[in-house]
Amino acid sequence: MNIFDMNIQELHMLLKKKQLSSVEATTAMLERIESIEPQIGSFITVTHEQALTAAAAADRQIAAGECHRLTGIPLAIKDIFLTEGILTTCGSRILDNFIPPYSATSWEKLRDSGAVLLGKLNQDEFAMGSSNESSAYGITRNPWDTSRIPGGSSGGSAAAVAARQAIATLGTDTGGSIRQPASHCGCVGLKPTYGRVSRYGVIAYASSLDQVGPLTRDVTDCAIMLEAIAGYDPKDSTSVDTPVPDYAAALAGGVKGLKIGLPKEYFIAGLDPDVQKTMQAAIETYRRLGAEFVDISLPHTDYAVATYYLIATAEASSNLARYEGVRFGHRSDKAEGLIDMMTRSRSEGFGSEVKRRIMLGTYALSSGYYDAYYVKAQKVRTLIMNDFMAAFANVDVMLTPVAPTPAFKIGEKINDPLQMYLSDIFTIPVNLAGTCAMSLPAGFSADGLPIGLQLIGKPFSEEAILQAAYAFEQATEWHKRKAVI
Ligand code: GLN
Repeated sequence: MNIFDMNIQELHMLLKKKQLSSVEATTAMLERIESIEPQIGSFITVTHEQALTAAAAADRQIAAGECHRLTGIPLAIKDIFLTEGILTTCGSRILDNFIPPYSATSWEKLRDSGAVLLGKLNQDEFAMGSSNESSAYGITRNPWDTSRIPGGSSGGSAAAVAARQAIATLGTDTGGSIRQPASHCGCVGLKPTYGRVSRYGVIAYASSLDQVGPLTRDVTDCAIMLEAIAGYDPKDSTSVDTPVPDYAAALAGGVKGLKIGLPKEYFIAGLDPDVQKTMQAAIETYRRLGAEFVDISLPHTDYAVATYYLIATAEASSNLARYEGVRFGHRSDKAEGLIDMMTRSRSEGFGSEVKRRIMLGTYALSSGYYDAYYVKAQKVRTLIMNDFMAAFANVDVMLTPVAPTPAFKIGEKINDPLQMYLSDIFTIPVNLAGTCAMSLPAGFSADGLPIGLQLIGKPFSEEAILQAAYAFEQATEWHKRKAVI
């Protein structure tokens, strides 16, 4: 078996038995990245030298008898995570020279578990997008069909896993940015409950919605990664101090008697027939495994996209005010005076989708419109949250599609922002409700594109969705198929 085809557990066994060194594994991954990058474009920065240094350190640790589950495992992370001393662009030109002075907690935790960083992954600019086409560093292509998008905004994170350029990756999810690309690239992606993983050192898009999570080859790897990054962080006041379970140990409980809700608003006309068929087959599989299905309703679903695009843009317009050419990143050299310098730096540094969102958000927050848009959106958000809590009184988890269609063509939606926004219709409500959800491989379209299934859990019940996902994975072969590349 090729090293790059392995999952965390397989590689860990070899490292532990000293049948392979982390330097060998890392070298194999770096070679794989180099050979595949021209076709895919998952990376913004490859940290070649640092990776080999970290791998050598991991080997010394293993020689000393210390081999944790992630020791010496080569990973890559989205370019939204601050990495001390390593270029961090967030997919934007405005940060094309930004070397952070400190690192994100989630990455520090992986590093302290012994993981090796291969590099920083491509993404939509400031995580705004669903296709990875808004990156200032070029598009990322879907490894299953390079004429298609990998999804976004963590498109590089999903494509790198699918193209076997990294054993596992980290992404962020504000409205679907882990789950939608995971679905389009045939990997497992989990958005934890808001507060489960520290956001410290993650470049902020919409602070009340952003969460960090893993993208992996399978459910066990996902559990291992989540356990490594989860937990309270005094540096993030919204992180929650609740114990982190051993997610991997809790996988095997099965789904007998599990009550799975099917929200009727998610099984609508207009759903792609291949997605529809895949959901039907998944429901049958779960039935066979002993799960019970309950029809439920999340009545405010129709308002979720509009609510999200008011709240997310309002928060973004405030968060992105810090990029003014003084403290961070790009500064225009054509400017005359301070205001002109700030205006030009922002005009030159931000791409068009980011500008659109700053304008939308500024408008929603402006006096006279604040109550009509921003405050109203907050109220609707509460209704959406209440929908979930009411439905969860009767079910353990929910099953829905991740995206209404498989991966679309590059260029298909980039000039139609509304169509692009609607591709997150099934993932956005979960962020507004603040709860956890994951995407796992559930089938393929007629033309061979992966289709993911979404499992939504109660707040802080990541164990429950991982367990349900594991049961499905054990009963199916979808996660074993590999993109031919
Ligand atoms: N596609 C959605 C947006 O553009 C979600 C992005 C995300 O989750 N970061 O805002």
